[in-house]
Formats: sequence, C-alpha cells, structure tokens
Amino acid sequence: MTVNLNFPFSSAPEAGEIKKVADGVFWLRMPLPFSLKHINLWLLEDHDSWVIVDTGVCNDETSGLWQQIFDNHLDGKPVSRVIATHCHPDHIGLAGWLTDYWDVELWITQSEWQQARLGVLSERETVKLLMAQHYDRLGVPKEALKRMSRIQGYFKNMNGDIPLTYHRVTADSQIMINGRSWQVFIGHGHSPEHASYYCEELDVIIGGDMLLPKITPAVSVSMEEPNGNPLQRFLDSLEQFYGISDKVLVLPSHEMPYHNLHTRIDELKLHHKNRCQVIVDSCEESKTAMEITEIMFAHRQLNDFDILMALGEAVAHIHLLMYQGRLKRFANAQGSWEFIR
Ligand SMILES: [Zn+2]
Repeated sequence: MTVNLNFPFSSAPEAGEIKKVADGVFWLRMPLPFSLKHINLWLLEDHDSWVIVDTGVCNDETSGLWQQIFDNHLDGKPVSRVIATHCHPDHIGLAGWLTDYWDVELWITQSEWQQARLGVLSERETVKLLMAQHYDRLGVPKEALKRMSRIQGYFKNMNGDIPLTYHRVTADSQIMINGRSWQVFIGHGHSPEHASYYCEELDVIIGGDMLLPKITPAVSVSMEEPNGNPLQRFLDSLEQFYGISDKVLVLPSHEMPYHNLHTRIDELKLHHKNRCQVIVDSCEESKTAMEITEIMFAHRQLNDFDILMALGEAVAHIHLLMYQGRLKRFANAQGSWEFIR
C-alpha cells in the first residue's frame, strides 16, 4: 500500500527519550492501551522555552514518561504552551495535567476543545440511551450492544481533566515558534476541527491524525450526528494538502514520519473509493449497516472495540454513497435502516 512513500528514519525514539527530526523539532512516543500501540508527540524548541504538541492518554505511565523527559531533555527550560491537534484521548488526555504542571494554556481549535469538554460532561445514562438508539438503527444485535457500551466508558477514562479555558487556534492563526511561522490547516471528518501545523521554512508538517502513512484515520458517523457525512468532509479536507510540497516531512501521530505527501493523499482517496465500491457491489439486495460491516471486514477477526470502529467507518462510507445518490436508505419492519443500490 505504501511502497511509494519514503521513510527517512529507521527507528523511533525509545520511551522517555526524544529524537531530533528537524531544527528545533523533536519526536517522542507514548504507549497506548489499545491495538494501536503508540502515539507520536512533538516537542518544539521556542527560544528559552518548549512547546508540546499532543499529550498522550491520561494514566500514570504517560505522566511518568513526561516527567522523565522534563528531567532529562528540557535543558532547564520550561514548557510555555501545550498544543492539542484534536480532541481524542491519545492527543488531549493529559492536557489538564500538563497545563497544570507548567501553569500554561492549552492551544486548540474551538470545536475540538468543546468536543473534549462535552466528553467529560456527558452523563453515562444519556450516552447509553443514545447508543441504544443509534446502534439499533444500524442493526447491531442487543447482546453486542451491551458489551459495546462498556467500551465507551473505558474510553472516557483515558481523558483526564480537560482545561476549563483554552487559547483558540483558527485557520488564520500564524503561530510563531522559535522565530518561525507555523500555519494551521483545519481538517474535518476524523474529528470536528482538527489542526495540522505546517512550517514552510522547515518544510515540516505536524499532520496529527489527518495524514497517517499506512493506516487510514478513523472516519465515523457519530451517534450525536446520525445523518452526518464525515467521509465527504474528510476527503474535501485532504485537497488542501496538495498545496504543500510533496517533499515536506510529514510528522504523523502514529507510525513513522515520511515524505511523498501527495502520493499518500492519492492513496487515501483511492482506498476510500475502493471501499465504497465493495459496498455498492454488496447492496444489490438491501442490507443493514451491520451486515455491510460484516462484508467489508470479512477478512478480519473483530473484537468488540474493532466492531464499534468498523461499524462507524462502514456507515461513513454508506452515507457518502447515500448522499451521492448511489445507495438508498429505508427503515425495515424492525425500525433498522437498510440500504440498497
Ligand atoms: Zn484522532
């Protein structure tokens, strides 16, 4: 899939260590407690201080590793800002702890901050109700749904305190770090208002989850927006990155840094196009979203967490096709949606 990308680094930094990837830009890794084993985080030198980009999940292991980095790798200089690319727990989970520790602001887009706060404030019972309604419509069996709602709670625990205040980042923000300007690229579809940071002078982009080299970022229809079309929004967001040089060094949140950004965008678009075709082919007779998911992921053994992700992703493709007029949706006798071409 990615034979056409160029990966300039042969190894990632060890836990608690940092690795220089460009002038003043350092790479570190934190462990993750799910099938994706690591998240890449970035430490940017800013004259007499440091800027942290993304945080890792909220647990003792991650805060312990941060402490190790503070003790060994900051050259006695403080952290002056914490930036979060978006609201997912691996990116923002420890933001409360980090901003408290250094008494600094969290820099983030408005929608991402609000989404993260909403996650903290949402009541378990309301979420359960919403889930039952949503997954019922998608044709998920009741017993599977019970197990899935437990996973939802597990996710919530990976977010610690989300700071009560924030510093707003927008598409117009020119962020000065170490005398260099970083431009913000807003992406949709993976999360509400994801920020990637591009420094033309260094020819480096901190891609977050928008520009991963091998896996494709999760693009899911959420239960809060059951008629959403996030895949269209994601694909539309990708187009802007063609405006950046193909040679740029992409720093993704997972896997390894790479070059050949344009090739990667082409691959992502092709991947989704192919997935859509599989769905259209399978819908000569009407099917529920759950049935389509089983066809799309027939080659993989899925645990409950995977099913939740797979289903969200399948529905994102289904909705793209529905809004393109290639699939039609109707409610069956049980009240679930079925799709037919
Ligand atoms: Zn994410």
